[in-house]
Amino acid sequence: MKCLRIGLVLTCIVATFVGCICTKNTPTETISRGTISAGSMHVPVDIGYSSIPASVQHKITGVSFRKRTPVKMSDLSYVKVRYIGFDNKEHMGELIVHKELAKEVLTIFEELYQKKFPIEKIRLIDEYKGSDDLSMKNNNTSAFNTRMIAGKKQLSNHSYGVAIDINPVQNPEVRGIKVRPGNAKAYANRQIVRKGMIIKGDACYSAFKKRDWSWGGEWKNIKDYQHFEKKT
Ligand SMILES: [Zn+2]
Repeated sequence: MKCLRIGLVLTCIVATFVGCICTKNTPTETISRGTISAGSMHVPVDIGYSSIPASVQHKITGVSFRKRTPVKMSDLSYVKVRYIGFDNKEHMGELIVHKELAKEVLTIFEELYQKKFPIEKIRLIDEYKGSDDLSMKNNNTSAFNTRMIAGKKQLSNHSYGVAIDINPVQNPEVRGIKVRPGNAKAYANRQIVRKGMIIKGDACYSAFKKRDWSWGGEWKNIKDYQHFEKKT
């Protein structure tokens, strides 16, 4: 009886979980079917990309998508990816990128998943009120956000959806002695390789570079180890 009850509870949890994923913001152009762990069970979920679903449009308007956003909502795509977390388990993440890069971004993240490159979390920056500082500090991987380049009066490429920041704590932006985010100082030292760091030649570096993305870790004046971008 106890087993049956536990079984029923588990079934309900999984059903609710699947319901959330499948009915909310399901990508319309699914190119692959993944699975995600729920307790000891694996449930199928769709990974893919689509135009921005109405619920997501509502969520990002006035936050990451603002009056000064240089692209139209219809220029952007919503991408649902799976990834291996720092806990070595599968997770689902969501990104917004320029529509011309959507399929490629999905392929890149699927490659990172297959190669088990660990990513701590992938959430829309709107969950951090559009604050790059809060998102970075929380080690969130994200792409689209309307914002200036730090310390400049120039829109960042993130504003066009053509730049992605990965594991910002393990891969900080380093300008001389200034390190962003502030809780990433230990990772300015690139000689000690730790989980989630991007190092020249590794799976993450290769997945982007072979598709002609440039890496901030190879810039001359500053180093932005979390940052990849591509011209569209
Ligand atoms: Zn960036």
